[in-house]
Amino acid sequence: HKDVNILILGIQGVGKSALTVRFLTKRFIGDYETEHESLCSHVIMIDGKPLSIHILDTAWKAGACMKDEYLLWADGVILVYSMVDKSSFDKLREIVEWIFAKKGEEKVIAVIGNKSDLIHRKQVSDTEATQFCAEYNCLSFDTSASDSYTDVSNAFNTIIREIKLN
Ligand code: GDP
Ligand code: MG
Repeated sequence: HKDVNILILGIQGVGKSALTVRFLTKRFIGDYETEHESLCSHVIMIDGKPLSIHILDTAWKAGACMKDEYLLWADGVILVYSMVDKSSFDKLREIVEWIFAKKGEEKVIAVIGNKSDLIHRKQVSDTEATQFCAEYNCLSFDTSASDSYTDVSNAFNTIIREIKLN
């Protein structure tokens, strides 16, 4: 069977690393190094079968992670924004436009609104997020990397299943 490659994009501070670590280790690491990208490989059990997944957790650095070779490598792309930072959501349009310009729309694309635990400071409405996902045909998830392993694993597992069907 084929391995699954997942690219994670989004501006700095939205929780890309926290989500990756949460999914792979079930733990929340609150303070994660942000300077460098990292490739995490893991064998997970999905529907009773082992599957090798590779997650490229990028470091933002003024958009430098939007590299064509990353997109070519990826079977699926996860776009992460923080619910408490509207600018992180607005940036996703630029990223997804780049993906579409590179014919990446055939890949599985998912949008994760992270930090759902900070709902009292929410800056991005459900309507905005839903409209965006409908417009670009993206899967949509809300997560809290800090509070919920269930949300995070549900998002990743759904994305991985979708990639396998693709
Ligand atoms: P990255 O730059 O996108 O990789 O973001 P990080 O994973 O380094 O997280 C940035 C900051 O947000 C850190 O201080 C994390 O502790 C915090 N963080 C990440 N996920 C969550 C979350 O779900 N809820 C809250 N409250 N904080 C989070
Ligand atoms: Mg990071």
